[in-house]
Amino acid sequence: MTETWGGIEAGGAHVVCAIGSGPDRLDAETSFPTTTPEETLARAVDFFRKRGGSGLAAVGIGSFGPLDLAPSSPTYGRVTSTPKPGWEGTDLAGTVAGTLGVPVAIDTDVNASALAEHLWGSAAGLDDFVYVTVGTGIGGGAMAGGRLVHGLVHPEMGHMRIPHDMDADRFDGVCPYHGDCLEGLASGPAVHRRWGRTPEDLPDDHPAWELEAGYLAAGVVNLVCALSPRRVVMGGGVMERPTLLPLIRAGVRDLLGGYVRAPEVLDGIDGYIVTPALGARVGVLGAIALAMQAGSADRPD
Ligand code: ZN
Repeated sequence: MTETWGGIEAGGAHVVCAIGSGPDRLDAETSFPTTTPEETLARAVDFFRKRGGSGLAAVGIGSFGPLDLAPSSPTYGRVTSTPKPGWEGTDLAGTVAGTLGVPVAIDTDVNASALAEHLWGSAAGLDDFVYVTVGTGIGGGAMAGGRLVHGLVHPEMGHMRIPHDMDADRFDGVCPYHGDCLEGLASGPAVHRRWGRTPEDLPDDHPAWELEAGYLAAGVVNLVCALSPRRVVMGGGVMERPTLLPLIRAGVRDLLGGYVRAPEVLDGIDGYIVTPALGARVGVLGAIALAMQAGSADRPD
């Protein structure tokens, strides 16, 4: 019998579960709102029990965080310091593994998405790239030398500090930990609170977009300088505005000032900063990719 893999994309607002082995092999899929940890995880487990049968080889979880991802930690696989009510300390990996009786792999939602784009999408064939999502929060996953970057905890690209000119933008930011970090200034909720309108409601010619592009370009430049990615993949709800990406590309070129002398940046920035190829399914496909990685012999971690 062919092995099947389960994926759980645990987002702050909703959860997507799927069974399959790639973008062309998704055999079952469901989604539901993220409520309490108990109810949400029970619904996920129920889906796999009903649809996965006995052929489920492993389950991957790509989750909002922060997460404890240190394999030796007694709280491995748990949500750590989230402001999301009720979720702090939730044992995502242990609960799913314990109830389904299969191996469970867990990583951040953005690392999972990066892995999916590496296997099947915009970063195919690239062992060094970053994936950034700009939506209700800002997060980033990175692959370096073919491995997802973890380290001390895991990258928190959304909480980078970027220049904030209070004369040009008198907004304190929305991050509960830092105020005006990148996420505090440029996430969807930041745009909403600053302008009193959601990003979707702002017209293309609104000054919000120039400001947004400037902040995101500053973030991308920091990532380019720190990690030297061969490509930057940018997804998430805010990035769905088609006019935003060209502004970010122009901003990145300006801010780099010709210093990084790579043709990808100097001559081919349209192919250097790109959208995800997997669209809205990138998250759940990433979770499935984690499961496949966990079940393979050459598992990198
Ligand atoms: Zn922050």
